Amino acid sequence: IRIYVPADSAAIALGADEVAETILAQAQQRGIEIDLIRNGSRGMFWLEPLVEIKTDGGRVAYGPVQVEDVNALFDADFLHCGAHALSLGLTEAIPYLQKQERVCFARMGVIDPLSLSDYEAHQGFAGLRRCLSMSPTEIVQEVLDSGLRGRGGAAFPTGIKWKTVAAAQAPQKYIVCNADEGDSGTYSDRMTMEGDPYMLIEGMTIAAIATGATQGYIYIRSEYPRAIEVMQAAIANATAAGYLGDRIAGSSHSFHLQVRKAAGSYVCGEETAMLESIEGKRGVVRAKPPIPAMQGLFGAPTVINNVISFASVPRILERGAAYYKNLGLGRSTGTLPIQLAGNIRYGGLIEKAFGVTLRELLFDFGGGSASGRPIKAVQVGGPLGSYVPEQYWDLPFDYEAYAAVGATLGHGGIVVHDDTADLSKLARYAMEFCAIESCGKCTPCRIGSTRGVEVIERLVQADTDSALKPAQEKLLRDLCHTMQYGSLCALGSMTPNPVISALNYYPQDFGLAAANPA
Ligand code: SF4
Repeated sequence: IRIYVPADSAAIALGADEVAETILAQAQQRGIEIDLIRNGSRGMFWLEPLVEIKTDGGRVAYGPVQVEDVNALFDADFLHCGAHALSLGLTEAIPYLQKQERVCFARMGVIDPLSLSDYEAHQGFAGLRRCLSMSPTEIVQEVLDSGLRGRGGAAFPTGIKWKTVAAAQAPQKYIVCNADEGDSGTYSDRMTMEGDPYMLIEGMTIAAIATGATQGYIYIRSEYPRAIEVMQAAIANATAAGYLGDRIAGSSHSFHLQVRKAAGSYVCGEETAMLESIEGKRGVVRAKPPIPAMQGLFGAPTVINNVISFASVPRILERGAAYYKNLGLGRSTGTLPIQLAGNIRYGGLIEKAFGVTLRELLFDFGGGSASGRPIKAVQVGGPLGSYVPEQYWDLPFDYEAYAAVGATLGHGGIVVHDDTADLSKLARYAMEFCAIESCGKCTPCRIGSTRGVEVIERLVQADTDSALKPAQEKLLRDLCHTMQYGSLCALGSMTPNPVISALNYYPQDFGLAAANPA
């Protein structure tokens, strides 16, 4: 009998290790032989720890299982799908999963993350194998044709970066994966590394073959100890099996890969600060140009992509650019792993083709707020994303449609707030966050964020009909304009997004009768 208990950080935080131990102990006590696999999470966190039993008709799920439920589950013969209050039926038939378009996350929760044979049995390395019969130019063209754009937040076309690095003449080139996933409410990179690490290795290896790079680094945030552990083990296994190192899969290509533990700073997620950090220096943003594709790590041409960008590549190579491009909307092709967090009943990971709306995500998937109160504001795209008011909840998830209303999709993180939220406090928090995380290189961000906290405090405290109120609002808008256009990187230039959206859509929280954008 095969049984699955996730070893994903979220599941472990909810007691999965203890549940796995108790199941093993109970089985031994009852003389039942079981094969317990520690898989990744399916991303339905309210059901974790989600225990699954393999049957001829597919896996049957039980959840959320606590240690004290295990005895009763054995008594109910759950190993043979016996009825129990925690029974959820076939895993694949759970609507939350069924309604998704899982391209990147197709293997997530299905395979044993560190089993190479499991990965290979689920189309693993099919993209790499196809790649080995193609020229580097053809590989780059396939990625260009797919329309894949960087999933880290900037949405820059991945194929153009690769093309630039491939065309550069240099004795050494690098592939760097940015796994410094620091946005609030985001975890798709972590889940990928913990639940399907060979997919990331395969995507980076394809990038190396396409561009002529021979060395790669995965820069993982220090707050992800399990992801670091799993990636290191996966790299060792892939190297031993000949998928990494010299002569990849018997070909003439070489690619060596290492994990670099990040320094614990939000700004190190900015690509040039990350390069400084990998080089062993303080994580300060570099001025561009030169762009990293020309002069990146140690001054060499470097491809930098986010985890999900690299993880999308194996499928594109396996199934072809047209398959990927046919998913999505306009210039936003493919799928986006969306992470639903904050005050939401069913938080978790949802992979959907672009075009899904926020309303569908909040209610059809999320089931409304966890508190049961009306949802007031939704921050999309991490701490630098705008607060999206209800009037825009029917906009399709599409980079251009969101940009047109001053919002961003970022890394696909969604944080929900109910009607008890005070948007003036959240705006103040955005400025404070910037002040704490600023690398200090440029004035609008370094000084502006601190002044921003003070101006918001004065604005909120000023009497409703005093002249100070409109004066502070104007000052705050001027300051945001300066930060937006005068900052060197996205931390300073995008911090105004949450502040201005809070001011425009929720003026009452600042004690203003109406926003005064002029
Ligand atoms: Fe550093 Fe902020 Fe300037 Fe970015 S915007 S370079 S984080 S000071």
